[in-house]
Amino acid sequence: MKKLIVITGASSGFGAAMARLFNANEYPLLLLGRRIEKIEALDLKGEVMIRHADVTNQEELAKAIREAEAKYGATDLLVNNAGVMLLGNVWKQSSKEWQTMLDTNVMGVLNGMQIVLPEMKKNHHGTIINISSIAGFKAFQNHAAYVASKFGVHGLNETVRQEVSGDNVRVMLVAPGAAETELLTHVTDDHALTEYEEWKQSMGGITLDPKHVAETVKFMYEMPQEVNIREVDIAATLQDN
Ligand code: NDP
Repeated sequence: MKKLIVITGASSGFGAAMARLFNANEYPLLLLGRRIEKIEALDLKGEVMIRHADVTNQEELAKAIREAEAKYGATDLLVNNAGVMLLGNVWKQSSKEWQTMLDTNVMGVLNGMQIVLPEMKKNHHGTIINISSIAGFKAFQNHAAYVASKFGVHGLNETVRQEVSGDNVRVMLVAPGAAETELLTHVTDDHALTEYEEWKQSMGGITLDPKHVAETVKFMYEMPQEVNIREVDIAATLQDN
Protein backbone atom coordinates (compact mmCIF):
# COMPACT_ATOMS: atom_id res chain seq x y z
CA MET A 1 0.00 0.00 0.00
CA LYS A 2 1.29 3.45 -0.86
CA LYS A 3 2.11 5.76 2.02
CA LEU A 4 1.24 9.37 2.79
CA ILE A 5 3.02 12.16 0.92
CA VAL A 6 2.78 15.73 2.24
CA ILE A 7 3.55 18.61 -0.14
CA THR A 8 3.78 22.22 1.02
CA GLY A 9 3.07 24.96 -1.51
CA ALA A 10 0.90 22.72 -3.67
CA SER A 11 -1.15 25.55 -5.13
CA SER A 12 1.16 26.37 -8.04
CA GLY A 13 4.47 25.72 -9.77
CA PHE A 14 6.55 22.73 -8.66
CA GLY A 15 4.16 21.82 -5.83
CA ALA A 16 1.15 21.60 -8.17
CA ALA A 17 3.19 19.56 -10.68
CA MET A 18 4.23 17.14 -7.90
CA ALA A 19 0.64 16.91 -6.67
CA ARG A 20 -0.56 15.95 -10.18
CA LEU A 21 2.19 13.38 -10.71
CA PHE A 22 1.92 11.64 -7.34
CA ASN A 23 -1.88 11.68 -7.60
CA ALA A 24 -1.72 10.07 -11.05
CA ASN A 25 0.38 7.36 -9.36
CA GLU A 26 -2.22 6.88 -6.61
CA TYR A 27 -0.28 8.05 -3.57
CA PRO A 28 -2.36 9.35 -0.66
CA LEU A 29 -1.69 13.08 -0.51
CA LEU A 30 -1.90 15.98 1.89
CA LEU A 31 -1.68 19.15 -0.18
CA LEU A 32 -0.97 22.37 1.65
CA GLY A 33 -0.97 26.05 0.86
CA ARG A 34 -2.68 29.30 1.71
CA ARG A 35 -4.70 29.57 -1.52
CA ILE A 36 -6.53 26.28 -1.16
CA GLU A 37 -8.98 27.19 -3.94
CA LYS A 38 -6.05 26.86 -6.34
CA ILE A 39 -5.27 23.39 -4.99
CA GLU A 40 -8.93 22.42 -5.31
CA ALA A 41 -8.87 23.67 -8.91
CA LEU A 42 -6.29 20.99 -9.73
CA ASP A 43 -9.36 18.73 -9.54
CA LEU A 44 -7.49 15.66 -8.28
CA LYS A 45 -9.42 12.48 -7.56
CA GLY A 46 -8.79 9.71 -5.04
CA GLU A 47 -7.01 9.95 -1.69
CA VAL A 48 -6.34 13.68 -1.49
CA MET A 49 -6.67 15.90 1.55
CA ILE A 50 -6.36 19.66 1.00
CA ARG A 51 -5.75 21.97 3.94
CA HIS A 52 -4.86 25.60 4.52
CA ALA A 53 -1.41 25.79 6.06
CA ASP A 54 1.01 28.67 6.22
CA VAL A 55 4.45 27.07 6.66
CA THR A 56 5.51 29.90 8.96
CA ASN A 57 2.78 28.80 11.40
CA GLN A 58 4.03 25.54 12.86
CA GLU A 59 0.83 24.90 14.82
CA GLU A 60 -1.35 25.11 11.72
CA LEU A 61 1.08 22.98 9.72
CA ALA A 62 1.24 20.32 12.44
CA LYS A 63 -2.56 20.21 12.79
CA ALA A 64 -3.01 19.50 9.08
CA ILE A 65 -0.29 16.83 9.05
CA ARG A 66 -1.70 15.08 12.15
CA GLU A 67 -5.16 15.06 10.59
CA ALA A 68 -3.84 13.45 7.39
CA GLU A 69 -1.80 10.92 9.39
CA ALA A 70 -4.91 9.92 11.36
CA LYS A 71 -6.55 9.08 8.05
CA TYR A 72 -3.70 7.72 5.91
CA GLY A 73 -0.98 6.64 8.39
CA ALA A 74 2.46 8.07 9.10
CA THR A 75 3.97 10.63 6.70
CA ASP A 76 6.40 8.75 4.48
CA LEU A 77 7.47 11.73 2.38
CA LEU A 78 7.41 15.41 3.26
CA VAL A 79 8.28 17.74 0.41
CA ASN A 80 9.21 21.13 1.84
CA ASN A 81 8.52 23.04 -1.35
CA ALA A 82 6.78 26.27 -0.29
CA GLY A 83 8.95 29.28 -0.95
CA VAL A 84 9.10 32.88 -2.06
CA MET A 85 11.64 34.84 -4.07
CA LEU A 86 11.51 38.61 -3.74
CA LEU A 87 14.30 40.09 -5.83
CA GLY A 88 16.01 43.30 -4.77
CA ASN A 89 19.20 44.96 -3.63
CA VAL A 90 20.24 45.12 0.00
CA TRP A 91 20.74 48.91 -0.07
CA LYS A 92 17.12 49.55 -0.96
CA GLN A 93 14.96 46.44 -0.45
CA SER A 94 12.45 46.49 2.40
CA SER A 95 13.53 44.36 5.36
CA LYS A 96 9.94 43.06 5.39
CA GLU A 97 10.74 41.25 2.15
CA TRP A 98 13.89 39.71 3.69
CA GLN A 99 11.85 38.58 6.66
CA THR A 100 9.18 36.98 4.45
CA MET A 101 11.83 35.00 2.58
CA LEU A 102 13.71 33.90 5.68
CA ASP A 103 10.49 32.97 7.49
CA THR A 104 9.07 31.01 4.55
CA ASN A 105 12.17 29.49 2.97
CA VAL A 106 14.13 28.67 6.13
CA MET A 107 11.71 28.63 9.10
CA GLY A 108 9.07 26.90 6.95
CA VAL A 109 11.47 24.05 6.15
CA LEU A 110 12.58 23.75 9.80
CA ASN A 111 8.94 23.75 10.93
CA GLY A 112 8.01 20.93 8.56
CA MET A 113 11.04 18.85 9.47
CA GLN A 114 10.42 19.17 13.19
CA ILE A 115 6.83 17.97 12.80
CA VAL A 116 7.64 14.71 11.00
CA LEU A 117 11.16 13.77 12.15
CA PRO A 118 10.41 12.31 15.62
CA GLU A 119 8.01 9.73 14.13
CA MET A 120 10.30 8.99 11.17
CA LYS A 121 13.24 8.43 13.55
CA LYS A 122 11.09 6.16 15.71
CA ASN A 123 9.85 4.17 12.69
CA HIS A 124 13.31 4.01 11.10
CA HIS A 125 11.60 5.03 7.89
CA GLY A 126 10.69 8.19 6.03
CA THR A 127 11.96 10.78 3.59
CA ILE A 128 12.16 14.55 3.53
CA ILE A 129 12.88 16.34 0.28
CA ASN A 130 13.74 20.01 0.62
CA ILE A 131 13.40 22.22 -2.43
CA SER A 132 16.31 24.63 -2.39
CA SER A 133 17.71 26.29 -5.52
CA ILE A 134 20.88 26.73 -7.53
CA ALA A 135 20.85 30.01 -5.59
CA GLY A 136 21.50 27.74 -2.58
CA PHE A 137 25.12 27.20 -3.56
CA LYS A 138 26.03 30.13 -5.80
CA ALA A 139 25.30 33.83 -5.92
CA PHE A 140 23.02 35.67 -8.34
CA GLN A 141 22.85 39.47 -8.53
CA ASN A 142 19.62 41.04 -7.18
CA HIS A 143 19.03 37.86 -5.11
CA ALA A 144 20.98 38.55 -1.87
CA ALA A 145 18.33 37.73 0.72
CA TYR A 146 16.92 34.88 -1.37
CA VAL A 147 20.44 33.47 -1.79
CA ALA A 148 20.92 33.77 1.99
CA SER A 149 17.71 31.83 2.59
CA LYS A 150 18.55 29.07 0.12
CA PHE A 151 22.17 28.72 1.33
CA GLY A 152 20.43 28.23 4.67
CA VAL A 153 18.35 25.40 3.24
CA HIS A 154 21.43 23.70 1.80
CA GLY A 155 23.20 24.00 5.16
CA LEU A 156 20.41 22.74 7.35
CA ASN A 157 19.54 19.97 4.89
CA GLU A 158 23.03 18.45 4.99
CA THR A 159 23.27 18.84 8.76
CA VAL A 160 20.02 17.02 9.42
CA ARG A 161 20.82 14.39 6.77
CA GLN A 162 23.93 13.48 8.75
CA GLU A 163 22.06 13.50 12.06
CA VAL A 164 19.24 11.14 11.04
CA SER A 165 21.04 8.89 8.55
CA GLY A 166 21.70 6.39 11.36
CA ASP A 167 17.94 6.15 11.91
CA ASN A 168 17.45 5.10 8.26
CA VAL A 169 15.67 8.40 7.54
CA ARG A 170 16.47 10.07 4.23
CA VAL A 171 16.93 13.82 3.86
CA MET A 172 17.33 14.88 0.24
CA LEU A 173 17.66 18.14 -1.60
CA VAL A 174 16.57 19.31 -5.03
CA ALA A 175 18.14 22.50 -6.35
CA PRO A 176 16.29 23.72 -9.45
CA GLY A 177 17.36 26.46 -11.80
CA ALA A 178 15.01 29.05 -13.26
CA ALA A 179 11.60 27.55 -14.04
CA GLU A 180 8.19 28.54 -15.37
CA THR A 181 6.15 29.04 -12.20
CA GLU A 182 4.45 31.89 -10.32
CA LEU A 183 7.63 32.62 -8.36
CA LEU A 184 8.37 35.94 -10.07
CA THR A 185 4.84 37.30 -9.70
CA HIS A 186 5.51 38.57 -6.16
CA VAL A 187 8.60 40.62 -7.04
CA THR A 188 8.08 44.33 -6.34
CA ASP A 189 11.37 45.66 -7.74
CA ASP A 190 10.77 46.45 -11.44
CA HIS A 191 14.46 46.92 -12.20
CA ALA A 192 15.34 43.49 -10.80
CA LEU A 193 12.42 41.96 -12.65
CA THR A 194 13.55 43.50 -15.96
CA GLU A 195 17.08 42.17 -15.46
CA TYR A 196 15.69 38.72 -14.66
CA GLU A 197 13.60 38.77 -17.85
CA GLU A 198 16.66 39.83 -19.88
CA TRP A 199 18.63 36.94 -18.37
CA LYS A 200 15.78 34.59 -19.24
CA GLN A 201 15.76 35.85 -22.83
CA SER A 202 19.44 34.94 -23.02
CA MET A 203 18.28 31.35 -22.44
CA GLY A 204 15.78 31.52 -25.28
CA GLY A 205 12.90 32.92 -23.19
CA ILE A 206 11.68 29.63 -21.74
CA THR A 207 13.23 27.94 -18.74
CA LEU A 208 12.52 24.65 -16.97
CA ASP A 209 9.08 22.99 -17.09
CA PRO A 210 8.02 22.19 -13.48
CA LYS A 211 6.94 18.71 -14.53
CA HIS A 212 10.60 17.68 -14.79
CA VAL A 213 11.23 18.75 -11.21
CA ALA A 214 8.21 16.66 -10.18
CA GLU A 215 9.55 13.65 -12.10
CA THR A 216 12.93 14.09 -10.36
CA VAL A 217 11.34 14.22 -6.91
CA LYS A 218 9.33 11.08 -7.66
CA PHE A 219 12.42 9.23 -8.92
CA MET A 220 14.40 10.16 -5.82
CA TYR A 221 11.59 9.10 -3.49
CA GLU A 222 10.95 5.81 -5.25
CA MET A 223 14.53 4.61 -4.87
CA PRO A 224 14.71 1.99 -2.09
CA GLN A 225 14.87 3.38 1.46
CA GLU A 226 18.50 2.28 1.77
CA VAL A 227 19.48 4.61 -1.10
CA ASN A 228 19.69 8.35 -0.57
CA ILE A 229 20.09 10.53 -3.65
CA ARG A 230 21.43 13.34 -1.52
CA GLU A 231 21.17 16.20 -3.97
CA VAL A 232 20.02 16.87 -7.50
CA ASP A 233 20.74 20.14 -9.29
CA ILE A 234 18.37 20.49 -12.24
CA ALA A 235 18.14 23.36 -14.69
CA ALA A 236 17.33 24.12 -18.29
CA THR A 237 20.19 23.04 -20.53
CA LEU A 238 20.40 26.58 -21.87
CA GLN A 239 20.91 28.04 -18.36
CA ASP A 240 24.59 28.97 -18.36
CA ASN A 241 25.09 29.85 -14.70
P1 NDP B 1 5.33 29.36 -7.03
O1 NDP B 1 5.25 30.79 -6.64
O2 NDP B 1 4.63 28.91 -8.27
O3 NDP B 1 4.88 28.43 -5.82
C1 NDP B 1 5.24 28.72 -4.50
C2 NDP B 1 4.35 27.92 -3.59
O4 NDP B 1 4.72 28.21 -2.25
C3 NDP B 1 2.89 28.27 -3.75
O5 NDP B 1 2.14 27.09 -3.79
C4 NDP B 1 2.59 29.08 -2.49
O6 NDP B 1 1.27 28.78 -2.06
C5 NDP B 1 3.56 28.48 -1.51
N1 NDP B 1 3.85 29.37 -0.39
C6 NDP B 1 4.49 30.55 -0.40
N2 NDP B 1 4.53 31.06 0.84
C7 NDP B 1 3.90 30.18 1.64
C8 NDP B 1 3.61 30.14 3.02
N3 NDP B 1 3.97 31.12 3.87
N4 NDP B 1 2.94 29.06 3.50
C9 NDP B 1 2.56 28.08 2.68
N5 NDP B 1 2.80 28.06 1.37
C10 NDP B 1 3.47 29.11 0.86
O7 NDP B 1 6.89 29.06 -7.15
P2 NDP B 1 7.73 27.71 -7.41
O8 NDP B 1 6.89 26.57 -7.70
O9 NDP B 1 8.77 28.11 -8.36
O10 NDP B 1 8.43 27.56 -5.98
C11 NDP B 1 8.52 26.35 -5.29
C12 NDP B 1 9.88 26.24 -4.65
O11 NDP B 1 10.86 26.14 -5.67
C13 NDP B 1 10.28 27.43 -3.80
O12 NDP B 1 10.91 26.98 -2.62
C14 NDP B 1 11.26 28.19 -4.69
O13 NDP B 1 12.15 28.95 -3.95
C15 NDP B 1 11.93 27.02 -5.39
N6 NDP B 1 12.63 27.36 -6.63
C16 NDP B 1 11.97 27.91 -7.70
C17 NDP B 1 12.66 28.21 -8.87
C18 NDP B 1 11.99 28.86 -10.03
O14 NDP B 1 12.68 29.44 -10.89
N7 NDP B 1 10.68 28.79 -10.16
C19 NDP B 1 14.09 27.92 -9.00
C20 NDP B 1 14.67 27.32 -7.82
C21 NDP B 1 13.96 27.06 -6.70
P3 NDP B 1 0.21 29.85 -1.45
O15 NDP B 1 0.59 31.19 -1.98
O16 NDP B 1 -1.09 29.33 -1.94
O17 NDP B 1 0.38 29.67 0.01
